[in-house]
Amino acid sequence: MPSRLRKLLFKFTASLLIFMLYDLIIIGGGPAGVSAGIYAARQKLNTLLIAKTFGGQMARKAVDIENYPGFEKISGLELIQKFEKHVIKNKVDIERDLVGKVKKISGGFAVSTKSRKQFQARAVIVASGADPRPLEVPGEKDFIGKGVSYCTACDGPLFADKEVAVIGGGNSGFEAALALKSYAKKIYILEFSPQIKADEANQALSKKSGVIEVIANAALKEISGEKFVDSIIYEDRKSEKSITLKVQGIFVEIGSQPATSFVKGLVDFSKKDEIVVDPKNNMTKTPGLFAAGDVTDVKFKQIVIAAGEGCKAALSAYEYIINQS
Ligand SMILES: Cc1cc2nc3c(=O)[nH]c(=O)nc-3n(C[C@H](O)[C@H](O)[C@H](O)COP(=O)(O)OP(=O)(O)OC[C@H]3O[C@@H](n4cnc5c(N)ncnc54)[C@H](O)[C@@H]3O)c2cc1C
Repeated sequence: MPSRLRKLLFKFTASLLIFMLYDLIIIGGGPAGVSAGIYAARQKLNTLLIAKTFGGQMARKAVDIENYPGFEKISGLELIQKFEKHVIKNKVDIERDLVGKVKKISGGFAVSTKSRKQFQARAVIVASGADPRPLEVPGEKDFIGKGVSYCTACDGPLFADKEVAVIGGGNSGFEAALALKSYAKKIYILEFSPQIKADEANQALSKKSGVIEVIANAALKEISGEKFVDSIIYEDRKSEKSITLKVQGIFVEIGSQPATSFVKGLVDFSKKDEIVVDPKNNMTKTPGLFAAGDVTDVKFKQIVIAAGEGCKAALSAYEYIINQS
């Protein structure tokens, strides 16, 4: 048999091999997904949680979390470990994978993963959060992992004694810069708008640091280097002059985009590409398909809110399932 045909046959049979029926499938292992998992298990729903890793955006947190009730100060990593331990302690099946597609089928949904496993459930909660928004400038893709980073908490220590730029002057950008001051010798924060949007407290701390320089009205144009990043070019939007900065690292902090590609056609989207849900019960426009946390059009995006929304979605999914029985 020709090898291409053999490969196709193998993929086809592999895709049929794993098939399980659940009451509920939860997509995502961030605060919304974990909280949904805990509540679903306590309602005795036969539940599968699909997530490659746990923690979601908390893994990108470069400084301690100081606003999650019960913990005056806790690192992102520590809170992730507590979340993971808590959901695993409950009776929830865990599949370490990414979801590729959700389809509506008779009586529920078919969910397939990137590694071609198939699952079915009567209801689904999408809690896939948001991914960092890319800069979309020349050089960005070429230098990912070679100076361009989307996670200060993960990559900051690699830039000891280097000069770096944080792109984005919101709270995330300032927090990234404040964390980087433990390693880098000079940190530029580039903000597109004329005004800095970060909290006064973060601005005051960065001023005090002596190593953080804030540049407003700066439009990043290009990232360049040979094997690794060695400079960026930005335009001063007031003078329209191009300016080159010698930096060895770029930390991208310009917001996030909801991870929704696998539910296109089943849900409505807001102007910001978030999944529109009914705020009372987190149901999308498709009955039985719920969403929670940062992936939705919920107004504020915080850990405690995502966890609350995950709880609301799970209790609503439970109500939906028993009403269908
Ligand atoms: C740098 C930074 C600092 C922050 N600081 C704070 C803070 O101090 N306090 C606070 O309250 N909030 C903070 N936030 C916001 C907070 O982290 C988010 O509001 C919260 O994590 C949202 O939770 P979530 O579960 O909705 O989504 P996420 O945390 O984004 O988790 C979603 C999960 O779904 C997974 N996923 C995505 N696609 C798929 C797929 N196809 N299949 C399976 N899984 C998938 C992702 O990998 C991820 O693990 C911060 C955010 C950032 C980026």
